[in-house]
Amino acid sequence: MKIGVLALQGAFAEHIVMLKKLGAETAEIRLPQQLDDLDGLIIPGGESTTMGKLMVDYELLEPLREFGLAHAMWGTCAGAILLAKDAHREQPLLNLMDITVERNAFGRQVDSFEAALDISSLNLESDAPFHAFFIRAPIIESMQGEAKALVTLPDGRIVAAQDGNLLATSFHPELTGDTRFHEYFLSLVKEN
Ligand code: GLN
Repeated sequence: MKIGVLALQGAFAEHIVMLKKLGAETAEIRLPQQLDDLDGLIIPGGESTTMGKLMVDYELLEPLREFGLAHAMWGTCAGAILLAKDAHREQPLLNLMDITVERNAFGRQVDSFEAALDISSLNLESDAPFHAFFIRAPIIESMQGEAKALVTLPDGRIVAAQDGNLLATSFHPELTGDTRFHEYFLSLVKEN
């Protein structure tokens, strides 16, 4: 199984480390032709406006969109914004997932915080709370079509969602030692 991590900007190296821990073959992706032999792709956290602009400059927007129509793809934080169909403002998006996101939804005072999340919906072997980092994180404000919520905060706000082979998380599972979210993504890659 070969998993690409989009490496234009942001926290791509951390995802590669997690994937290697799970025994996956990995590749840093910067060019459209590098998508050809991948089974799945992760779009990391960073800055969604910068990454979107680089996707346009590198002529990756349409190839990435096509890839996501046929393969498993996971966006963390800025990556989740880029997967969405709507982010309430004009910026390049992949327009793949039937979700509407609100950027920087937690305001300035709590730009970053940590939370223990209930991930029992993933049906993994261990459903111990998942310790998650939120860094200027978006919220998944609403979902349309087939998209479903996977993880919510205690107040009900959605921080992980799935739409078929597409996965979005507001937080950064690559910044913990906990590989369970990466495992879940690999199970989507296998199914697809
Ligand atoms: N706030 C960033 C954005 O809007 C996302 C932050 C992150 O990826 N940690 O793109």
